[in-house]
Amino acid sequence: MSPLEVTQTYFERAARLMSYSERVKTMLWTPFREVKVEITVETDDGEIGTFIGYRVQHDNARGPMKGGLRYHPTVDPDEVQSLATLMSLKTAVVNIPFGGAKGGVACDPRKLSTRELEMITRKLVDGLQDVIGPHVDIPAPDVNTNAQVMAWIMDQYSKYKGFTPAVVTGKPVDLHGSLGREAATGRGVVLGLAELLRELGRPLEGARLVVQGFGNVGAHTAALAAEQGARVVAISDQDGAVHNAEGLDIAALRAYTREMGTVRGFTGGESVPRDDVLTLECDVLIPAALADAINADNMHAVRAPVIVEAANGPISAEADDYLRGRGVEILPDIYANAGGVTVSYFEWAQNIQQFHWSEEQVNTALQQRMAQSFRDLVEMRRQHHTDFRTAAFALALERVRSVTIQRGIL
Ligand code: NAD
Repeated sequence: MSPLEVTQTYFERAARLMSYSERVKTMLWTPFREVKVEITVETDDGEIGTFIGYRVQHDNARGPMKGGLRYHPTVDPDEVQSLATLMSLKTAVVNIPFGGAKGGVACDPRKLSTRELEMITRKLVDGLQDVIGPHVDIPAPDVNTNAQVMAWIMDQYSKYKGFTPAVVTGKPVDLHGSLGREAATGRGVVLGLAELLRELGRPLEGARLVVQGFGNVGAHTAALAAEQGARVVAISDQDGAVHNAEGLDIAALRAYTREMGTVRGFTGGESVPRDDVLTLECDVLIPAALADAINADNMHAVRAPVIVEAANGPISAEADDYLRGRGVEILPDIYANAGGVTVSYFEWAQNIQQFHWSEEQVNTALQQRMAQSFRDLVEMRRQHHTDFRTAAFALALERVRSVTIQRGIL
């Protein structure tokens, strides 16, 4: 199944639960706008490099569209549409006044210089500047994009429209970014995990966590969970994995990866094959890398009783079915990793107000949103006797459906 088919499976399940007609389903599923742009740059060896950039704007009924921008070789229109749809639902689950979008460039950033990445980013903005903007569509970081890429986007867009920091979020703090944004997705994951464990009557303190992926989301999740007393027993990245049953020293691992670019070879634990972390015995498994990490090939070996989807779409539909059947509690991506877009909303609000919030204000407001939306999910789940994912999809779809009708369909 493609990522889009996986998202559609969950969408259909929730739509059935809410008894939506075919016409309502078509309205909610169909993207508002899909854009594909050619990006041609001069590469460092003096050659011509042509890349393809995508932006799918899924829905704007609840507000300007919002979603990350990903640089990765596997980016394609199907994946981008799936992620854009998830963004419309994510912003609705945490009830922030945005719709959903997603973008990406099919490229391998590991093979590109900083200059080449900057040129690709600026050319992407040239292609998209007419269809993005603070009240239209606001990009943000995702896989392989960061605050520097966001700064280039802001700069290039401002050349067309005048100084416009609110066109993009996840900017450097010195350049109208928000305190707390960089750690926000990981912080939200840990807040969501704490809510879930409280609901299940299990403690976070001492819980054995496994984190797949040690980028922005994985590293902050691991660090904040460890700060709250959880034991992070294994971590993987693209190149390898480390395991320590006593708990890894996350600060030391972060210092190591900053220097070496990978967790592989870290001496504070033993090396294990990368994908073995997914099937280790633990209390909570947190996939924080890419989609489809848990699928039909490895689902039978997964031993975690709780999975928190820090990544987008890390569990295939087949694996989701199987694991639910086994009673595994899955906290879905559209809630679990919504901390990033929530603080992006705070950054956008600060930019519009031309005013800065303290980090404490940001973190407190994030905590309140994650807690409120968890209560909404629990209530939805109780009302409909369903799982967290279906409850989250249903809650979000209903929020989008009702404002679409309120705004009027002519
Ligand atoms: P990132 O590029 O900073 O990090 C990705 C990490 O995954 C890296 O450590 C990489 O080595 C690792 N990885 C890649 N393939 C792997 C594999 N097969 N096994 C183990 N590790 C692997 O990206 P990120 O921003 O941390 O995003 C991670 C996930 O979280 C993505 O699914 C993204 O869509 C989602 N997400 C990110 C944000 C955000 O604010 N950055 C917000 C919401 C959701």
